[in-house]
Parts: sequence; C-alpha cells; structure tokens
Amino acid sequence: MSITVVREFRNLVGGELVDAIDGGTREILNPANGEVIGRVPEGTQADVERAIAAARAARVSWGSTTPAQRMDALLALATAVEVHADELAALEVANVGKPRSLADEELPICSDELRFFAGAARTMHAPAAGEYSPTHTSFVRREPVGIVGQIAPWNYPLMMAIWKIAPALATGNVVVLKPSEITPLSTLRLAELAAEIFPPGVLNVITGEGDPVGRGIVTHRDVALVSLTGSVPTGKWIARAAADSLKRVHLELGGKAPVVVLDDADPAKVAAGLRVASFCNSGQDCTAATRVIATPGVYEALLEELVPAVASLHVGDPAEGAAIEMGPVVSAAQQQRVLGFLDRAVDGGANLLLGGSAGRSTGYFVEPTIVTGVGQDAEIVQGEVFGPVVTVQRVADADEAIRFANDVPYGLAASIWTRDIGRAMNAIRTLDFGCVWVNDHLPFLSEMPHGGFKESGYGKDLSTYALEDYTRVKHAMINLD
Ligand code: NAD
Repeated sequence: MSITVVREFRNLVGGELVDAIDGGTREILNPANGEVIGRVPEGTQADVERAIAAARAARVSWGSTTPAQRMDALLALATAVEVHADELAALEVANVGKPRSLADEELPICSDELRFFAGAARTMHAPAAGEYSPTHTSFVRREPVGIVGQIAPWNYPLMMAIWKIAPALATGNVVVLKPSEITPLSTLRLAELAAEIFPPGVLNVITGEGDPVGRGIVTHRDVALVSLTGSVPTGKWIARAAADSLKRVHLELGGKAPVVVLDDADPAKVAAGLRVASFCNSGQDCTAATRVIATPGVYEALLEELVPAVASLHVGDPAEGAAIEMGPVVSAAQQQRVLGFLDRAVDGGANLLLGGSAGRSTGYFVEPTIVTGVGQDAEIVQGEVFGPVVTVQRVADADEAIRFANDVPYGLAASIWTRDIGRAMNAIRTLDFGCVWVNDHLPFLSEMPHGGFKESGYGKDLSTYALEDYTRVKHAMINLD
C-alpha cells in the first residue's frame, strides 16, 4: 500500500510565507487517482487586501531598481528553478497528471524564459531624444505600470506563472499572482524560492477561487493592469470589470487551432506531428491541434496513418513510469466536460474512429479520441473542448480549408502542412491567428510573441512584446530657454 504525503503550502505576502487570514484551507488532488496531495490557503478578499498593501509598499523601491539589478534577481530565480527542477517537475506531475517526460521538458524552458526576460530587461528602446521643436528637447521614458494583478490557469501552472511574472518583474512592476485553485502547488513552491531572492512585497502569491480572490484583484482600484491566462468567459468578465476603473487588461485566452493539410503533405509526418500536438498534456493546451482540415487527395491516407499513431499512445497514471505518454485530464469536472462534448457530438451524428470514453475507472481519464463526420457548425468544431480530442474534416479544396480554419471565434494558433512554398506563404497571410506554423504544430520560443486574435484575447506573452505590454510610455519635454 502506498502512503501519499500531504504537504502544506503557504501564500507569499510581503516576503513572508503566510496562511489565509481567516485560516481557511483547500485540499489539492492528484487527478490520476483522486488522492489528496497538498493543502493550501483558501483566500478571501482580506488576503487580496493584504497582498496589494504589500505590493504597494514595495512598488517605489522595486520600480527604482536598475535593469541590471532586476536581471540579477531573475537570473537567481532561474538558477533556483534549475536547482529544484526535480522537485518542481514532481509537483507538476502529481498536481496536473502530466507525464514525467513532459514535466522534465518544461522545467528547462521555465529557466530559459526567466533568463530571457532577465536579459531583455536591459534592452528596452524608445525613440531617440531630440529637438522635435527648435526650443525643446523631448525624450520618452518606459516606466513600470505599477501593481500588476496576474491570474493563471491550471494546464501548465509553473510555466504560465513564469510567463506572467518574468516580464512584469523585469520591467519594474510589483506583482500579485493568483494560480489556479486546482493546480497551485508548483507556483507556491516557486513562491518559496522567490521569497529568498526578491525584496518583500515585490512578488506576492495568493491562492483561492476566481471569486472572491481573482475578482478581488481585478476590481481593486490600486491594481494598474490585470493579466489573465484563462478561458474566454473569464477574459470577457475581466475586461468588463476592468472597464469600471479603466485598468489595462492583458488576456491570453482559449484556442481551437486548425491543422490545414493539403494534398501534397506527407500523411505520415502529419500523423506523427498530431500524435504530439493534439494529445500532449492530454490535449489541455490552448494551442493544441484540435481541428484537422484535409483536402480530398490526402484525407483517407491521413486517417490511415493517424488512427494507429494515436492508438499507440501509452495512457496511464504517470506514476506507472517513464513509458506513460498521456495522463488524465485535470479534474472530474474537466473529464465530465470533455465526455459531454463527445456525447453530444455522437448524438448529432459524429463518428468516433478512436476513443470516446473515460477508459479507466480510477482517476479522471479520457481516451485519446478521433472524431469524423462533423460539420463546420458542430459544437465540437466551434467550441474549445480542452481534452485529448481531435476532429478531422474533409473539405473540397485549399480555399475551403482556409475558410473553415478561420470560421471559429478563436484566433490563437494554426498550422498548414504542404510542400508548396507559395501555398504556405498564402496561408500565413490569410490564417487569422496569432501564430501560424508550417509543417509543424506546437513549438514556441522565449524570443517570439505568443498571443491570440479575436476571442483568444489581446496582449503578448514571451518576447520583447511582453515587455511593452507591462510598461507605460511617458513623454518628457524640456524647454531649452
Ligand atoms: P478559467 O478561466 O476557468 O480560470 C483561469 C483563472 O481565472 C483561474 O485562476 C481562475 O480561478 C480565475 N478566475 C475565474 N473566474 C474569475 C473571475 N471572475 N475573476 C478573476 N479570476 C477568475 O480557465 P482554466 O480552466 O483555469 O484554464 C483553461 C483555459 O485557459 C482554456 O480556455 C485555455 O485555452 C486557456 N489557456 C490559454 C493560454 C494562452 O496562452 N492563450 C494558455 C493556457 C491556457
């Protein structure tokens, strides 16, 4: 019999690791077996007030540090993440249910992102100072916006926390971060490491539900900017709520990425790509390859390659060992949500070529699933399932493929698979998404912007564009007389 160790975690506020003010706690589960693995503070509005007061107290001194000083702190955090990579990866596996191989891939990326923003902190540019009027010299200052509220999702908890805090801290802001109430463990461990590095109040991490803790951050008058990575409904709510105080909003929301496969694509390569891009992290990825749209000359050959490729995925509890390639989805609610999409699709006439059910009685699993026979208006084509499910549609030609690809409310990421450079270039131009891959799907880079169009939100994570989003521009004008 295995005994699960339940670890207690605390919030980071004003440099101290603290319980919730009213002493409330929440149990955190391992989705592969439903066992309790951690206990965290359950926050209220009082915790929001305390964290924002701590951030306010640190704002001026952190905002006055040099980029080189902020670089040093971020590099120290990158090193701490590297030193504790094994422990952080284990927390990510236990809390999200992802395979250890995936968590091990994510950890070096997390350190790299911190290092990228450490260096990028020193590169901010503005127009040259000069006499745009003969009697005045002008220049532009890039300043931190102040107190930044950041709200993260459950699918890549540690990486999303780093995507948020790294550019905000690099540019001299102070942060109040709320991880997802479902997967806060790795972020709270990151907070413990950060407590040793950053001055008190610069980074505050508080846990709790979207309402009251997220809502409390979003509606607080002292917060200058709110950054959410999460679902479209939460993003819309935040944009509306932020309008009351006209605070700035940065929204990385859902996706429904199309995979356009043209006749001249290599079906084996596409199938190998989709085996990863559609099912990595159990499909709980905002850029996951969810809608395959194939032209007639490749449709059948693609399915012949895709079905056995996906059927060969090793699904199971990540604790079973290194061979596991796909774990459960994150929670019982998410499992029910995904299975609900599948039931309704089948009721509407869709075919299940593979999967379609939970597959296991313990843990929150969904089998890798391939769905065909769905129209463009089908719920499963239009809505974000956020699970290990891919639809495959046959279209008349390349023009219809692009039209179908663009015909969803989302605009985060897309891919096109063809050997024809002209067709690829045309697709890059016409696909209405914040990222377009050619003959690949999923990779991202610290140096390149990540962010969507349409209902996938606005604002960019990663790259120097994120630095712009977390700064404000001030014109200074000096009378030369
Ligand atoms: P969610 O919107 O349910 O929750 C996200 C966060 O918002 C959580 O921390 C939650 O507590 C908080 N929240 C909920 N209601 C709130 C409110 N009223 N005020 C303030 N905060 C509130 O999303 P989720 O289910 O945790 O994550 C999955 C979603 O995130 C998917 O839609 C996915 O596509 C998206 N996502 C997007 C990206 C991207 O980069 N675009 C990356 C990862 C995930």
